[in-house]
Amino acid sequence: MFFAPAQQASIIISTHSDASICVLQSPRKPRVIFQSHRVAMHKSQSESPSFAALRELFRTRIAVLDGAMGSMIQTYQLEENDFRGTRFLDHPHDLKGNNDLLALTRPDIVEKIHADYFAAGADMVETNTFSSTTIAQADYKLESIVTELNQAAVACARRAAQNAEVATPGRRCFVAGAIGPLNRTLSMSPDVNRPDFRAVTWDQVVGSYTEQIRALIAAGVDTLLVETIFDTLNSKAALFAIEQVFDETGVRIPVMISVTITDASGRTLSGQTIGAFYHSIRHAKPFSVGVNCALGGAAMRPYVEELAAMAECYVTCYPNAGLPNAFGGYDETPADMASVIGEFARSGFVNMVGGCCGSTPAHIAAIAQAVRGLPSRPPAPASTSLRLSGLEPLLVA
Ligand SMILES: [Zn+2]
Repeated sequence: MFFAPAQQASIIISTHSDASICVLQSPRKPRVIFQSHRVAMHKSQSESPSFAALRELFRTRIAVLDGAMGSMIQTYQLEENDFRGTRFLDHPHDLKGNNDLLALTRPDIVEKIHADYFAAGADMVETNTFSSTTIAQADYKLESIVTELNQAAVACARRAAQNAEVATPGRRCFVAGAIGPLNRTLSMSPDVNRPDFRAVTWDQVVGSYTEQIRALIAAGVDTLLVETIFDTLNSKAALFAIEQVFDETGVRIPVMISVTITDASGRTLSGQTIGAFYHSIRHAKPFSVGVNCALGGAAMRPYVEELAAMAECYVTCYPNAGLPNAFGGYDETPADMASVIGEFARSGFVNMVGGCCGSTPAHIAAIAQAVRGLPSRPPAPASTSLRLSGLEPLLVA
């Protein structure tokens, strides 16, 4: 799935559906307009039962997240008919590449991948729901089954978690509801001649995310993970939707946030530095904030370090298995990734580590081994300083 605004020579938006495209390339920075939006009022909310268990896990040791889903699915070399199954045999649009649909048509594969990650030592797996929103599924004319997609994906992950817990009594396995960045952005115009144009509205994005979030929570995820964020305003729409659903249900689950720094300039695709991004989202009181995807671990180091110094919550890091090579593959071995991420852990930067595109259960096993026994990073002291942000952060001491 591609999104290529004319104003940029090549923007390839990650969908995690293809190992070769979870890359964000930004030749130049677009102008970004940030809007402020009222965060939903907090009505009385209680914490979900798994909230305390996750807090305890992150407090006591470095947690391990799973690795890539998309590149693992690719190893099964599925064809159009696999994606269609019997149910979508007559669907009027090609479905190959719609990895999220496999929760319905090949749940055995999705569950097996989750199981492999738990077997490798992951404490938490992400649901196969990166593109399970009405906006993303519109590319396949499958907007109408989004709630069902999310429910089925959670069921796959939950079955794998329960089996892993039964296999090792006392072990706790968590399921994070993955929320992707969408293929339409609120901060950037896809039309070079109309910089004010947006392909989608705030209300449409909030509505789309709300449907996904309601389904993920109702199906029983332990936490929500808003990830691979390249446009801060899209992520703020997701966070706004999450708060509204918390108000509806009266129950709060941990909210995890992960941004993507797209190149060596150290900025998101919508132009923010890591510090400005943190200032933009800290009002949501995230359980964790982190960096994932585009850059390999080594190139990510300065941003993880900067975030670790300021974040008043837990910090996560799950890079790709290196920068993509000329063939769209990923070259870092399990030992390579474990070496880089192990150093982050020894430096006290992280509370949870894992892998993004190109990583496999073998990578996660090596990473888990590399961080075993290392202390968990204490969050930075809560600050009452005024923090503002545009493209750069502003801290008023
Ligand atoms: Zn990725």
